Amino acid sequence: MWIPVKPPFGGFESSYESSQVVVIGIPLDLTSSFRPGCKFAPQKIREASFYLETYLPSAGVDVFEKLRISDLGDLCLSQDLEKAGIKIEREVSRVKEDGKFPVLLGGEHTLTYFACRALKPDCILYLDAHADFREEWLGQKLCHATVARRLLELLPNVNLLQIGVRSCSKEEDEFRKEKRIIWYTPEDLEERNLSSEILEKVSGKVYLSLDVDVLDPAFAPGVSCPEPGGISTSHLLRFLRKLRGIKLCGVDVVEVCPPFDNGESSFAAARVIYEILAQLI
Ligand code: MN
Ligand code: MN
Repeated sequence: MWIPVKPPFGGFESSYESSQVVVIGIPLDLTSSFRPGCKFAPQKIREASFYLETYLPSAGVDVFEKLRISDLGDLCLSQDLEKAGIKIEREVSRVKEDGKFPVLLGGEHTLTYFACRALKPDCILYLDAHADFREEWLGQKLCHATVARRLLELLPNVNLLQIGVRSCSKEEDEFRKEKRIIWYTPEDLEERNLSSEILEKVSGKVYLSLDVDVLDPAFAPGVSCPEPGGISTSHLLRFLRKLRGIKLCGVDVVEVCPPFDNGESSFAAARVIYEILAQLI
């Protein structure tokens, strides 16, 4: 069952059959430990997308002209995490099997686990302030704070790159060192010319997971777990522009939390999605 939405993302109204890109709203909000409310994000991101230009001067392309995009609306999800996850996996699988590119509007970060169960990427670009490497959190094995660790268990050979990370526990820090996770802090991104270095490490089918708290709270205050010391929106956009040519198999934008947002975070999320779409053209 779907919850229909108005306007669709960007106002794009291609039919599912004719579309190359499929937007799915995933209002998953079951494990938030601090500030719940990210279930309202898909609709707020859509609203923001409607008011942004679809022409991107950086790429010289108009996403609206170049891509056929459909928006299926929001998934109607169970309050049981695994049942909700099965539904997310099923819909993402369908989009994949139909040869279309999924854009997932979260919702909490946990949805990435179910999307990757469907897409089985070779590489995950994980943009996040947090490592999300906890073994468990508040008695939960699978939640927004453990999702990256569960992804490594789900896909033992996956090439996981953490970008913009600046917050973790001592145990998580030891875990990532032991696992030799590729890890770039905001300072790394600022001080070194990393785009080409990161892209050299990217291989195969790439999934991009963007936790909006990777941005500094000055740029995106309306997120579930704000973490000072992040990158700016323009820095993030510059980074995404370098992704042109990599083989993306799907993207999610998660953790925007509208009850704490004045529009900054949902507009940033929408703008980021346009920038990623421009890289697909
Ligand atoms: Mn996260
Ligand atoms: Mn985070």
